Amino acid sequence: MLKIAIQKSGRLYEDSIKLLKECGIQLNNGNKQLKAVGFNFPIEVYFLRDDDIPQYIYDGVADIGIVGENVLQEKGRDLDILFRLGFGKCRLSIAVPKSMKYSSGKDLANLKIATSYSSILGKYLSENNINAEIHEISGSVEIAPGIGLADAICDLVSSGSTLFTNGLKEVEVILQSEAVLAGNKNLSKEKKDILNRLLLRINAVNTARNNKYIMLNAPNDQLENICSILPGMKSPTIVPLAEEGWSSVQSVVNENDFWDIIEKLKQFQAQGILVVPIEKMIV
Ligand code: ATP
Ligand code: MG
Repeated sequence: MLKIAIQKSGRLYEDSIKLLKECGIQLNNGNKQLKAVGFNFPIEVYFLRDDDIPQYIYDGVADIGIVGENVLQEKGRDLDILFRLGFGKCRLSIAVPKSMKYSSGKDLANLKIATSYSSILGKYLSENNINAEIHEISGSVEIAPGIGLADAICDLVSSGSTLFTNGLKEVEVILQSEAVLAGNKNLSKEKKDILNRLLLRINAVNTARNNKYIMLNAPNDQLENICSILPGMKSPTIVPLAEEGWSSVQSVVNENDFWDIIEKLKQFQAQGILVVPIEKMIV
Protein backbone atom coordinates (compact mmCIF):
# COMPACT_ATOMS: atom_id res chain seq x y z
CA MET A 1 0.00 0.00 0.00
CA LEU A 2 1.04 3.54 -0.71
CA LYS A 3 0.80 5.77 2.38
CA ILE A 4 -0.31 9.33 1.80
CA ALA A 5 -0.36 12.06 4.47
CA ILE A 6 -2.88 14.87 4.24
CA GLN A 7 -3.85 17.69 6.58
CA LYS A 8 -6.32 16.50 9.22
CA SER A 9 -8.20 19.80 9.33
CA GLY A 10 -7.55 23.26 8.00
CA ARG A 11 -7.28 24.97 4.66
CA LEU A 12 -5.94 22.03 2.67
CA TYR A 13 -8.21 19.33 4.07
CA GLU A 14 -11.28 19.78 1.83
CA ASP A 15 -9.34 20.08 -1.41
CA SER A 16 -7.12 17.11 -0.55
CA ILE A 17 -10.12 14.86 0.13
CA LYS A 18 -11.85 16.16 -3.00
CA LEU A 19 -8.80 15.34 -5.09
CA LEU A 20 -8.70 11.74 -3.82
CA LYS A 21 -12.43 11.41 -4.50
CA GLU A 22 -12.05 12.78 -8.03
CA CYS A 23 -9.28 10.23 -8.55
CA GLY A 24 -11.93 7.59 -7.85
CA ILE A 25 -10.49 6.62 -4.47
CA GLN A 26 -13.06 5.70 -1.85
CA LEU A 27 -12.01 5.60 1.79
CA ASN A 28 -13.39 3.15 4.29
CA ASN A 29 -13.69 5.41 7.31
CA GLY A 30 -14.19 8.88 6.01
CA ASN A 31 -13.79 11.67 8.37
CA LYS A 32 -10.98 12.72 10.62
CA GLN A 33 -9.84 9.42 11.98
CA LEU A 34 -6.09 9.13 12.25
CA LYS A 35 -6.02 6.74 9.34
CA ALA A 36 -8.27 5.59 6.48
CA VAL A 37 -7.83 2.86 3.88
CA GLY A 38 -8.84 3.03 0.23
CA PHE A 39 -11.05 0.05 -0.52
CA ASN A 40 -10.79 0.29 -4.30
CA PHE A 41 -7.15 1.48 -4.51
CA PRO A 42 -4.07 0.31 -2.54
CA ILE A 43 -3.66 3.48 -0.53
CA GLU A 44 -3.64 4.35 3.16
CA VAL A 45 -4.42 7.94 4.18
CA TYR A 46 -2.90 9.49 7.33
CA PHE A 47 -4.49 12.63 8.73
CA LEU A 48 -1.82 14.87 10.28
CA ARG A 49 -0.98 18.47 11.16
CA ASP A 50 0.52 20.05 8.09
CA ASP A 51 3.73 21.00 9.94
CA ASP A 52 4.48 17.31 10.59
CA ILE A 53 3.93 16.07 7.03
CA PRO A 54 7.42 16.77 5.56
CA GLN A 55 9.15 14.97 8.43
CA TYR A 56 6.82 11.96 8.23
CA ILE A 57 7.53 11.63 4.52
CA TYR A 58 11.25 12.11 5.03
CA ASP A 59 11.28 9.38 7.71
CA GLY A 60 9.25 7.06 5.48
CA VAL A 61 6.30 6.85 7.88
CA ALA A 62 4.31 8.21 4.93
CA ASP A 63 5.45 7.77 1.31
CA ILE A 64 3.85 10.88 -0.13
CA GLY A 65 1.81 13.81 1.17
CA ILE A 66 -0.12 16.93 0.28
CA VAL A 67 1.36 20.05 1.84
CA GLY A 68 1.93 23.73 1.10
CA GLU A 69 5.28 24.64 -0.47
CA ASN A 70 5.66 27.16 2.36
CA VAL A 71 5.71 24.35 4.94
CA LEU A 72 7.91 22.17 2.75
CA GLN A 73 10.54 24.89 2.35
CA GLU A 74 10.41 25.91 5.98
CA LYS A 75 11.03 22.36 7.15
CA GLY A 76 13.85 21.97 4.64
CA ARG A 77 13.46 18.20 4.16
CA ASP A 78 14.84 16.82 0.91
CA LEU A 79 11.73 15.50 -0.83
CA ASP A 80 10.56 15.15 -4.43
CA ILE A 81 7.88 17.56 -5.61
CA LEU A 82 5.72 15.21 -7.69
CA PHE A 83 2.85 17.47 -8.69
CA ARG A 84 1.82 21.09 -8.19
CA LEU A 85 -1.84 20.80 -7.29
CA GLY A 86 -3.14 24.31 -8.01
CA PHE A 87 -5.02 24.83 -4.72
CA GLY A 88 -4.00 26.39 -1.37
CA LYS A 89 -2.46 29.31 -3.22
CA CYS A 90 -0.97 32.01 -1.02
CA ARG A 91 2.21 34.02 -0.57
CA LEU A 92 4.62 34.52 2.29
CA SER A 93 5.08 38.24 2.73
CA ILE A 94 6.62 40.82 4.98
CA ALA A 95 4.19 43.44 6.28
CA VAL A 96 4.76 46.59 8.31
CA PRO A 97 2.40 49.05 10.05
CA LYS A 98 0.51 51.19 7.55
CA SER A 99 1.93 54.37 9.02
CA MET A 100 5.56 53.31 8.50
CA LYS A 101 7.46 54.87 5.60
CA TYR A 102 8.76 52.06 3.41
CA SER A 103 10.65 52.20 0.15
CA SER A 104 12.91 49.12 0.04
CA GLY A 105 14.20 46.12 1.98
CA LYS A 106 16.81 48.37 3.58
CA ASP A 107 14.01 49.87 5.69
CA LEU A 108 13.72 46.55 7.51
CA ALA A 109 17.20 46.98 9.00
CA ASN A 110 17.25 46.69 12.79
CA LEU A 111 13.52 45.88 12.98
CA LYS A 112 12.13 43.00 14.97
CA ILE A 113 10.09 40.74 12.63
CA ALA A 114 7.61 38.22 14.08
CA THR A 115 7.06 35.03 12.07
CA SER A 116 6.38 31.28 12.14
CA TYR A 117 8.69 30.98 9.11
CA SER A 118 12.05 31.78 10.68
CA SER A 119 14.03 29.56 8.31
CA ILE A 120 12.64 31.03 5.06
CA LEU A 121 12.77 34.56 6.49
CA GLY A 122 16.32 34.09 7.76
CA LYS A 123 17.44 32.97 4.32
CA TYR A 124 15.71 35.92 2.66
CA LEU A 125 17.27 38.44 5.05
CA SER A 126 20.78 37.08 4.67
CA GLU A 127 20.51 36.82 0.85
CA ASN A 128 19.47 40.48 0.78
CA ASN A 129 22.01 41.59 3.39
CA ILE A 130 19.34 42.89 5.71
CA ASN A 131 20.25 42.90 9.35
CA ALA A 132 16.94 42.39 11.17
CA GLU A 133 15.94 40.42 14.24
CA ILE A 134 13.66 37.40 13.83
CA HIS A 135 11.15 36.78 16.59
CA GLU A 136 9.68 33.30 16.20
CA ILE A 137 6.07 32.78 17.30
CA SER A 138 3.76 29.94 16.36
CA GLY A 139 0.43 31.67 15.70
CA SER A 140 -1.53 34.95 15.56
CA VAL A 141 1.49 36.61 14.00
CA GLU A 142 -0.60 39.45 12.57
CA ILE A 143 -1.30 40.96 16.01
CA ALA A 144 2.37 41.14 17.03
CA PRO A 145 3.01 44.77 15.94
CA GLY A 146 -0.28 45.95 17.50
CA ILE A 147 0.65 44.58 20.94
CA GLY A 148 4.22 45.83 20.78
CA LEU A 149 5.80 42.40 20.35
CA ALA A 150 7.47 43.22 17.02
CA ASP A 151 7.88 46.01 14.44
CA ALA A 152 6.91 43.95 11.41
CA ILE A 153 5.67 40.47 10.49
CA CYS A 154 6.37 37.79 7.92
CA ASP A 155 3.26 35.66 7.34
CA LEU A 156 1.01 33.97 4.78
CA VAL A 157 -1.30 36.23 2.81
CA SER A 158 -4.02 35.42 0.31
CA SER A 159 -6.54 38.26 0.03
CA GLY A 160 -4.70 40.66 2.35
CA SER A 161 -7.81 41.31 4.48
CA THR A 162 -6.18 40.04 7.70
CA LEU A 163 -3.32 42.47 7.20
CA PHE A 164 -5.76 45.27 6.50
CA THR A 165 -7.82 44.70 9.64
CA ASN A 166 -4.64 44.71 11.70
CA GLY A 167 -3.41 48.01 10.30
CA LEU A 168 -0.58 46.44 8.29
CA LYS A 169 0.59 46.79 4.69
CA GLU A 170 2.34 44.15 2.58
CA VAL A 171 5.77 45.36 1.47
CA GLU A 172 7.74 42.31 0.26
CA VAL A 173 6.61 38.96 -1.18
CA ILE A 174 9.25 36.39 -0.33
CA LEU A 175 7.58 33.17 -1.55
CA GLN A 176 4.64 32.21 -3.81
CA SER A 177 3.11 28.98 -2.61
CA GLU A 178 0.53 26.34 -3.50
CA ALA A 179 -0.26 22.83 -2.32
CA VAL A 180 2.01 20.18 -3.79
CA LEU A 181 2.21 16.41 -3.76
CA ALA A 182 5.59 15.68 -2.18
CA GLY A 183 7.22 12.28 -1.96
CA ASN A 184 10.02 10.34 -0.33
CA LYS A 185 13.01 10.04 -2.66
CA ASN A 186 13.54 6.33 -2.03
CA LEU A 187 10.30 4.55 -2.76
CA SER A 188 10.31 0.84 -3.52
CA LYS A 189 9.47 -0.38 -7.03
CA GLU A 190 6.03 -1.57 -5.81
CA LYS A 191 5.22 1.82 -4.26
CA LYS A 192 6.45 3.67 -7.35
CA ASP A 193 4.07 1.60 -9.46
CA ILE A 194 1.11 2.58 -7.28
CA LEU A 195 2.31 6.19 -7.25
CA ASN A 196 2.41 6.23 -11.05
CA ARG A 197 -1.17 4.97 -11.19
CA LEU A 198 -2.17 7.74 -8.78
CA LEU A 199 -0.25 10.39 -10.76
CA LEU A 200 -2.02 9.33 -13.96
CA ARG A 201 -5.33 9.97 -12.22
CA ILE A 202 -4.25 13.28 -10.67
CA ASN A 203 -3.02 14.40 -14.05
CA ALA A 204 -6.33 13.44 -15.68
CA VAL A 205 -8.32 15.33 -13.04
CA ASN A 206 -6.13 18.43 -13.32
CA THR A 207 -6.06 18.46 -17.12
CA ALA A 208 -9.84 18.13 -17.17
CA ARG A 209 -10.17 21.09 -14.79
CA ASN A 210 -8.15 23.25 -17.15
CA ASN A 211 -10.10 22.30 -20.26
CA LYS A 212 -13.65 22.59 -21.55
CA TYR A 213 -15.55 20.60 -24.14
CA ILE A 214 -17.00 22.85 -26.82
CA MET A 215 -19.72 22.15 -29.39
CA LEU A 216 -20.93 24.53 -32.06
CA ASN A 217 -22.64 24.77 -35.43
CA ALA A 218 -20.91 26.38 -38.39
CA PRO A 219 -21.41 26.91 -42.12
CA ASN A 220 -19.28 24.44 -44.10
CA ASP A 221 -17.33 27.19 -45.86
CA GLN A 222 -15.99 28.33 -42.46
CA LEU A 223 -14.88 24.88 -41.25
CA GLU A 224 -11.27 25.37 -42.25
CA ASN A 225 -11.02 28.65 -40.32
CA ILE A 226 -12.74 27.18 -37.31
CA CYS A 227 -10.58 24.04 -37.23
CA SER A 228 -7.45 26.22 -37.35
CA ILE A 229 -8.32 27.71 -33.93
CA LEU A 230 -9.80 24.55 -32.37
CA PRO A 231 -6.99 22.02 -32.39
CA GLY A 232 -8.74 19.54 -30.08
CA MET A 233 -6.98 16.53 -28.61
CA LYS A 234 -6.09 15.10 -32.00
CA SER A 235 -8.30 17.12 -34.33
CA PRO A 236 -11.89 18.39 -34.00
CA THR A 237 -14.87 16.10 -34.61
CA ILE A 238 -17.02 17.30 -37.52
CA VAL A 239 -20.53 15.92 -38.05
CA PRO A 240 -22.91 17.12 -40.78
CA LEU A 241 -26.17 18.72 -39.61
CA ALA A 242 -29.54 17.77 -41.14
CA GLU A 243 -29.58 21.27 -42.63
CA GLU A 244 -27.62 21.33 -45.88
CA GLY A 245 -24.33 23.28 -45.81
CA TRP A 246 -23.91 23.21 -42.00
CA SER A 247 -21.85 21.07 -39.63
CA SER A 248 -21.47 20.51 -35.92
CA VAL A 249 -17.91 20.89 -34.64
CA GLN A 250 -16.78 19.40 -31.32
CA SER A 251 -13.46 19.96 -29.62
CA VAL A 252 -11.56 20.67 -26.39
CA VAL A 253 -10.27 24.11 -25.46
CA ASN A 254 -7.96 25.30 -22.73
CA GLU A 255 -9.47 27.49 -20.02
CA ASN A 256 -6.74 30.13 -20.53
CA ASP A 257 -7.47 30.63 -24.24
CA PHE A 258 -11.18 30.22 -23.85
CA TRP A 259 -12.55 33.76 -24.37
CA ASP A 260 -10.09 34.54 -27.19
CA ILE A 261 -11.30 31.46 -29.01
CA ILE A 262 -14.99 32.25 -28.46
CA GLU A 263 -14.49 35.75 -29.93
CA LYS A 264 -12.80 34.33 -33.03
CA LEU A 265 -15.47 31.65 -33.42
CA LYS A 266 -18.14 34.35 -33.53
CA GLN A 267 -16.19 36.11 -36.29
CA PHE A 268 -16.22 32.83 -38.22
CA GLN A 269 -20.03 32.67 -37.94
CA ALA A 270 -20.20 29.90 -35.36
CA GLN A 271 -23.65 29.53 -33.77
CA GLY A 272 -25.21 27.65 -30.88
CA ILE A 273 -21.93 27.38 -28.99
CA LEU A 274 -22.20 24.98 -26.03
CA VAL A 275 -19.43 24.67 -23.45
CA VAL A 276 -19.41 21.83 -20.92
CA PRO A 277 -17.04 20.83 -18.12
CA ILE A 278 -14.93 17.69 -18.55
CA GLU A 279 -14.78 15.26 -15.66
CA LYS A 280 -11.61 13.35 -16.56
CA MET A 281 -9.18 13.79 -19.44
CA ILE A 282 -6.59 11.20 -20.40
CA VAL A 283 -4.42 12.44 -23.24
P1 ATP B 1 -2.39 22.58 11.08
O1 ATP B 1 -3.35 22.45 12.22
O2 ATP B 1 -2.50 21.41 10.14
O3 ATP B 1 -0.98 22.86 11.52
P2 ATP B 1 -2.35 25.33 10.12
O4 ATP B 1 -3.20 26.18 10.99
O5 ATP B 1 -0.87 25.35 10.28
O6 ATP B 1 -2.91 23.82 10.23
P3 ATP B 1 -3.84 26.26 7.80
O7 ATP B 1 -4.16 27.64 8.21
O8 ATP B 1 -4.92 25.24 7.74
O9 ATP B 1 -2.58 25.65 8.60
O10 ATP B 1 -3.14 26.37 6.35
C1 ATP B 1 -2.63 25.27 5.69
C2 ATP B 1 -1.94 25.73 4.44
O11 ATP B 1 -2.86 26.38 3.58
C3 ATP B 1 -0.84 26.77 4.61
O12 ATP B 1 0.38 26.19 5.03
C4 ATP B 1 -0.74 27.33 3.21
O13 ATP B 1 0.05 26.48 2.39
C5 ATP B 1 -2.17 27.28 2.71
N1 ATP B 1 -2.85 28.60 2.68
C6 ATP B 1 -3.54 29.11 1.64
N2 ATP B 1 -4.00 30.34 1.88
C7 ATP B 1 -3.64 30.65 3.11
C8 ATP B 1 -3.84 31.81 3.95
N3 ATP B 1 -4.49 32.87 3.56
N4 ATP B 1 -3.32 31.77 5.19
C9 ATP B 1 -2.69 30.68 5.62
N5 ATP B 1 -2.46 29.58 4.86
C10 ATP B 1 -2.92 29.55 3.63
MG1 MG C 1 0.41 24.04 10.69
